[in-house]
Amino acid sequence: LEEQLRQSQKMEAIGTLAGGIAHDFNNILTVIAGYASLIQINGEESEAAAMAVEILFSVERAAEMTRSLLAFSRKQEVHLEAVDLNLLVAELHKSLARLISEEVELVVRVSGGELCCVADRGQLEQVLINLAVNARDAMPGGGTLEISTGTAELADEDIPPGRYALITVSDNGTGMEKEVQERIFEPFFTTKEVGKGTGLGLSSSYGIIKKHNGAIRMHSELGSGTSFRIYLPLSGGRPSAERAESEGRPGAGS
Ligand code: ADP
Repeated sequence: LEEQLRQSQKMEAIGTLAGGIAHDFNNILTVIAGYASLIQINGEESEAAAMAVEILFSVERAAEMTRSLLAFSRKQEVHLEAVDLNLLVAELHKSLARLISEEVELVVRVSGGELCCVADRGQLEQVLINLAVNARDAMPGGGTLEISTGTAELADEDIPPGRYALITVSDNGTGMEKEVQERIFEPFFTTKEVGKGTGLGLSSSYGIIKKHNGAIRMHSELGSGTSFRIYLPLSGGRPSAERAESEGRPGAGS
């Protein structure tokens, strides 16, 4: 629990800091891009004009990074509604298929019927997209990305014990070293090259799932792959019988 608190305070502080820097940095980028465009236009076919194109290219990459920083730092309001996770995953299938490369096979398995949660649809989609992009990046030579839904019992220290909706996202890609596994939810932690990763995908996903009173778990093995499990409270709450069994922890569930 202490670790969780540390994590969310860190996210909060870094979010504020990142937002401020990203904003000012964006203004500077606009100036750089403006002058580079002038050099490009006035220089016509010159060597300087060719270099200006390179500058504009890098500026665009930097702008992309500041955009994701701003998105990360923005205090996102949560728009809660009843969401059928099975429907959400099925509807996301097409967009995800477009996102991953041709060598990666996408397998989607949803449990029968409805899987209802009270959630922010857009934010959950963002989490699944983040996980899918990471899975794709972990399978440069191809592989299988599998997304499945169901329910599962969860009894650990972070959230009240009970039955939860479960979304599993797994890949058979590179997997991660222990040192990497320990740091993946840290803001700005990335092993990707500059311009490819911001290290914000998993930390913001963690924040989103936490805001939903859920939990996110990762299991990874070097050389065989990684799977993420997202637990979300089923709508209607946990059955009261199960809650009564939860060893009468003070304050639990109320
Ligand atoms: P980014 O994708 O920008 O690097 P993330 O927070 O999404 O930021 O991920 C952090 C790091 O976690 C990645 O750089 C990568 O090293 C590791 N990672 C995340 N998902 C996977 C995965 N499915 N397989 C292997 N490594 C992963």
